[in-house]
Amino acid sequence: MKLRDKYKIEPGSKVKLSRWDANDTAGIETKKQALPELEEHRKRLYELQYLLHAEKRRAVLIVLQAMDAGGKDGTIRHVMSGLNPQGCHVSSFKVPTEEELAHDYLWRIHRAVPGKGEIGIFNRSHYGDVLVVRVHNLVPKQVWSKRYEQINAFENILSENGVTILKFFLHISKDEQKERLQERLDDSSKHWKVSSADFEERKFWDDYTKAYEDALSRCSTPWAPWYVIPANRKWFRNLAVADILVSTLEEMDMRFPKSKLDLSKFTLD
Ligand code: AMP
Ligand code: MG
Repeated sequence: MKLRDKYKIEPGSKVKLSRWDANDTAGIETKKQALPELEEHRKRLYELQYLLHAEKRRAVLIVLQAMDAGGKDGTIRHVMSGLNPQGCHVSSFKVPTEEELAHDYLWRIHRAVPGKGEIGIFNRSHYGDVLVVRVHNLVPKQVWSKRYEQINAFENILSENGVTILKFFLHISKDEQKERLQERLDDSSKHWKVSSADFEERKFWDDYTKAYEDALSRCSTPWAPWYVIPANRKWFRNLAVADILVSTLEEMDMRFPKSKLDLSKFTLD
């Protein structure tokens, strides 16, 4: 079975994260086995991005969400490192600024959506507005509870206007998060990553799990599917994301556009 089918949330289905094994590697046993395939995918991604750029008709939006230490940055580093930086843009969504808060929550998101011919990567996204915002009651329930439908409608507008959307939830277990946070404390080259927020947020693991389950259940749509990527093994996470990206881009059936010029006119001496 293709990884894309295996890890896609069927629209309308109810997600229970305890049923998704964060250690899963789809039968691939070792990192060594996975690396050549990842390399192949990276090369193909480069070619597909070139086509996307040449066509300049459509855009690709990749949304990455995960618990803290879930591997969003690592995924960007490993999977996207083969892309041409000219046609690729990463947007990280942090605590909203005063200006951002003065607007509706999708304002800052819409501005960052990639243009035609580009690949945009969201490191966190509008889903923060039904995750951290919900877990910490930053707005009342009657406000955040309407956002699932609003997000679906927003993503539908993007999709109908030429944006192919893929949303990845990098799924790690609570034990794996503990190990990764401990490693950040133990390894001086990782001290820069230590953030008190990560340790605070861990206390809300169960609330985040519920909030993620709702977002994944309610916002996986035919036009903007969610994928649950088993992410305890970093090498498999990278492979799965790359594999799904490649299959999605292949399916877009991109072609080099024909020139609008009469090329026979051009002669060289
Ligand atoms: P990081 O991605 O680890 O650098 O952290 C970014 C921080 O911004 C995280 O603690 C997020 O929870 C927070 N954040 C992202 N989006 C929102 C939002 N809409 N409202 C409040 N906090 C947010
Ligand atoms: Mg963090």
